[in-house]
Amino acid sequence: MIRSHTLKIALVAATITTFIIIYSCLSSIEIDKWIPTYPYYISGNPLMKNIGEPRSAQPLHRNTDENYERTNATLLSLVRNEELEDLIPSIMEVEATFNSKFNYPWTFINDVPFTEEFKKRTRQLTKAKINYEVIPTEQWVEPAWIDESLFNASSRALEKQGVQYSSMISYHRMCRWNSGMFYKHPRMLQYRWYWRVEPKTHYFCQIDYDVFRFMEDNNKTYGFVINLYDSPESIKTLWPVTMDFVAQHPEYVHPNSAIGWLTDAKKRPNHNAKANGYSTCHFWSNFEIGDMNFWRSQAYEEYFNHLDRDGGFFYERWGDAPVHSVALGLFEDSNKIHWFKDIGYQHIPYFNCPNSNKCSGCIPGLHSDGTGLSPENCMSNWLKYSQMEDLY
Ligand code: GDP
Ligand code: MN
Repeated sequence: MIRSHTLKIALVAATITTFIIIYSCLSSIEIDKWIPTYPYYISGNPLMKNIGEPRSAQPLHRNTDENYERTNATLLSLVRNEELEDLIPSIMEVEATFNSKFNYPWTFINDVPFTEEFKKRTRQLTKAKINYEVIPTEQWVEPAWIDESLFNASSRALEKQGVQYSSMISYHRMCRWNSGMFYKHPRMLQYRWYWRVEPKTHYFCQIDYDVFRFMEDNNKTYGFVINLYDSPESIKTLWPVTMDFVAQHPEYVHPNSAIGWLTDAKKRPNHNAKANGYSTCHFWSNFEIGDMNFWRSQAYEEYFNHLDRDGGFFYERWGDAPVHSVALGLFEDSNKIHWFKDIGYQHIPYFNCPNSNKCSGCIPGLHSDGTGLSPENCMSNWLKYSQMEDLY
């Protein structure tokens, strides 16, 4: 009797201890990060189901196919000479996971000429063709109507509100160029598709099919991996200025748009209020696989010119991510936007990490390695409001 009683107590104690150990392990790795946000919590994190290759209207194109042919695409990096050491690992990973199989050309673009060192070191990383390009000055610098003293005054005000990089003119130029210029660069004019690659980004999964041809075959315009809320202080008037444009051009709004994703006020009402009606949800544009014909369309050209005239790239700090996202969310069929679940990716501090035997080096389902960042994840809203078909 006594023996079995002691045994029971010991069992209960052991069970409690096990729970405490498991709990403390889990809390030390912050369980909230594993569960991106409602409704993932209810329906399960979509990255945790076994992620294979996407379904495709045509068989996926592989380098091992007889008669495999590339399409008209380039890997694209806008980058500074000083970022060479941070870019090298990213190039190596893109090559190791994808491009050593498909040999798409790389295009490196800079506002000043690339150094010989930059060229020499990057040439060693790929057998594909490389274009080294300089941005024509008139594409890079502020347009004539931007007033320098107004820029200085507004950037100081934004700085006080904690808007990152607001006093760096180069950052404003970069955001504007990525919004409305990159696809007009003389070199880029020869391509239709691009994949944007930034320094310090990481790629974790083998991609064994041609992603550009996948986009083409399935009539997709834009591919992303991470969906986030933005800092509303940086885009206070982007939405009202956009609404002016839409009032002039209601015909550009697509009947199958993701406007609900752009205007949601339920999940983060303060963000929506501060951004004057925009949820601030956006595709994180340091990764993009896209069709430049969308950016070259009349609707986007007119929209960009409207934004550019307004001056918010300089007097606020509009990012290319919200600008691209607002345009895609309004003017494109949301089913033409594809979540590349199978591309394991990191740009500090966020991840897209699928549960797949093609991946290594990231934790499946993990959204961020920073503390308390799960509210920044907007993916559940994208899934709720878009018509995007799940191809996995
Ligand atoms: P963050 O990701 O928003 O922190 O911004 P980054 O510093 O990563 O800049 C975004 C991209 O633009 C990166 O690929 C940078 O290399 C590039 N970039 C930013 N500023 C400049 C610049 O002044 N000149 C050039 N050539 N590239 C820039
Ligand atoms: Mn970056």
